[in-house]
Amino acid sequence: MLYFFNFYFGAIVGSFIYVCVLRLPKDEDIVFKKSYCERCNKEIPWFYNIPLFSFLFLKGRSGCCQEKINLDYFVVELITGLLFLINFILFDSYLTIIIFDLLHVILLLIIIIDYKNRIIFDVFSYTLIFTGLIINYFFSSINPYNITILDALITVIISSGLFGLLKFLYKKIKKIDGLGGGDIILIAGLSAWTGFKFFLYLLILSSVTGIVYYYLLNKNKDENFEIPFGSSLGISFIVLLYYAKCFIKIY
Ligand SMILES: [Zn+2]
Repeated sequence: MLYFFNFYFGAIVGSFIYVCVLRLPKDEDIVFKKSYCERCNKEIPWFYNIPLFSFLFLKGRSGCCQEKINLDYFVVELITGLLFLINFILFDSYLTIIIFDLLHVILLLIIIIDYKNRIIFDVFSYTLIFTGLIINYFFSSINPYNITILDALITVIISSGLFGLLKFLYKKIKKIDGLGGGDIILIAGLSAWTGFKFFLYLLILSSVTGIVYYYLLNKNKDENFEIPFGSSLGISFIVLLYYAKCFIKIY
């Protein structure tokens, strides 16, 4: 029962995440604006707005005008539910579970918004820097990467310096922006959590993810295709976090 509760709580949060994904890039209100059908603009009643179940009951079509509901809703709710369930299984205390649930909410927002809009909101990345440093200073034992605050600080400086330099050189040589400023702050934010060793793993894994993205999304071989690198970084971070939690022994 507790397993289901955590999973379904995740699905509800996932539903909210998707609202943010749709509205934040358009600068719309995320709390007070009611849900409207994207086609006929009718308000969506609560019983058609139940995470996961409504989609299944309505067989993927909206209750008002039978418009096909974007499958993304369902996928985001399902994935958030699964992540919350995994956090519940892996982490010991409720406080730790809540911290990592919140961390995953921020990561999912970054991953999905960058995937859909190629935007990384700096406020999320600064939150990661800030929370990462606080966790490693006060409660380093709950961070699966198990690093010291010194390691975190040095890695933030090295990673952002390194990528800042790369961006500078790339612009100098190629005369175009290869890396967004948002990418650099995000890298700093993630490395505040990972420390140096896993920062290197993160680079390798996110490059691989980026290449996979390129082949999956750029079917027309568009030369100007922009890889959602923030999204690749976020996914790689979650994979490494679970890897670290399961396989690193904390002495
Ligand atoms: Zn409608």
